[in-house]
Amino acid sequence: MRKITIIGAGQAGLQLGIGLLDKQYDVTIVSNRTGDDIGSGRVMSSQSMYDIALGYERELGLNFWDATCPSIDGVHMRAGGSEGKPMIDWTARMTVGGQSVDQRIKMPRWMKEFQKRGGKLEIRDAGIDDLERYAAISDLVIVSSGKGEVGKLFARDAERSEFDQPLRTIGLTYVHGMLPRKNYSALNISINPGIGEYINFPALTTSGTCDIINLECIAGGPMDRWSEVKTPEEHLAMTKWMIDTFFPWEAERCKDIRLTDDNGTLVGRIPPTVRKPLGTLPSGALVFGMADVLVLNDPITGQGSNNASKCARLYNDRILAHGRRAFDRDWMEETFERYWDYAQWVVRFTNTHLLPPPPQLLKVFSMCGANPALASFVANAFDDPKTLNPWYYDAAEADRFVARFQQAA
Ligand SMILES: Cc1cc2nc3c(=O)[nH]c(=O)nc-3n(C[C@H](O)[C@H](O)[C@H](O)COP(=O)(O)OP(=O)(O)OC[C@H]3O[C@@H](n4cnc5c(N)ncnc54)[C@H](O)[C@@H]3O)c2cc1C
Repeated sequence: MRKITIIGAGQAGLQLGIGLLDKQYDVTIVSNRTGDDIGSGRVMSSQSMYDIALGYERELGLNFWDATCPSIDGVHMRAGGSEGKPMIDWTARMTVGGQSVDQRIKMPRWMKEFQKRGGKLEIRDAGIDDLERYAAISDLVIVSSGKGEVGKLFARDAERSEFDQPLRTIGLTYVHGMLPRKNYSALNISINPGIGEYINFPALTTSGTCDIINLECIAGGPMDRWSEVKTPEEHLAMTKWMIDTFFPWEAERCKDIRLTDDNGTLVGRIPPTVRKPLGTLPSGALVFGMADVLVLNDPITGQGSNNASKCARLYNDRILAHGRRAFDRDWMEETFERYWDYAQWVVRFTNTHLLPPPPQLLKVFSMCGANPALASFVANAFDDPKTLNPWYYDAAEADRFVARFQQAA
């Protein structure tokens, strides 16, 4: 039986671990937190996921919340407007709805499921010495520790990393009491150019259904004020102030919001980073990185958990296809390149949204209001950002692309 050790019990590590267990692999997952630690801790993400990524969870029977988690049925994009009125305003349904299950619910449940299906869960903050030990007794060690320190074992890829610092300060707030939208639930995106973005959608948290608000604040700009906040109450007040001031069209829905719990807030800054896929231990043994360890994005486009699911599925297939052969450097490099073949488009999509929108995007977004088919195409791209290539990034291609929809309209 082949032995695989995975560092990190997050979206990627657990999904891969459970997938391999189902194929009779001997799998150990090492987590620096117990399920109880995670469940009673701070929120970590807004974790909106879409059809392809959710489908990979369903294949493994891990979709425990389909009946209880509200679905995210469409996209509502607005961009404004110092006068308090958006200049771009369009809505479109997605073909299949998305879902956001608080990782404080999901990961402890999946940890239990992993153990129930025969996996070994070890609780420890794995350091280099531990990795050496696991490498000596495993056929393959995968590091899926997210933003954890141990991921620094993997060298930054300067060519593939467009930025060398965070471009946003992120203020995440889980709330009850937001007024529902009039028609269908949505990923609500509001852009205040040069200042920041408001992102909101419904979710399932520890106290039931809720709304998640992610405020993306341009570093050094008027929304970059989270360092002033010291308490959960101040965090909520800052969230409301930012909405009233910079996204006033959302203020009515948010007038009665209250925190889901004192741990329902998070402030952070994420340096978008791509890393080299192999880590070399002092002994010379190789370990293989995964998901956020190798491709870390700002959450502005809500893609990291989707990436983690897609990466887990791809690694799973590559491990199975490799049979009894050694997981050597070539296998690791080729496996990552296959992942990068997809992930590069997520990086490009996300990094584009961190910079001022190029003219072709403003043009396309402006046309979406009057062209439902075009708007649907853009809404569905959150499920698969690769579909935005090449027109999202090139003015001439964008003209050709929208012409197709004008003829069809
Ligand atoms: C504010 C915010 C909002 C987000 N919103 C979205 C969104 O809407 N949609 C979306 O798709 N993505 C979103 N993301 C990104 C998403 O949460 C991550 O990309 C995803 O969780 C990555 O999965 P992972 O398995 O790679 O890492 P993680 O989920 O981070 O899991 C890593 C695990 O490893 C553990 N660990 C770390 N170091 C060690 C160690 N040395 N030993 C043992 N265990 C260790 C950690 O404690 C953690 O449990 C958001 C992120 C943030 C910060």
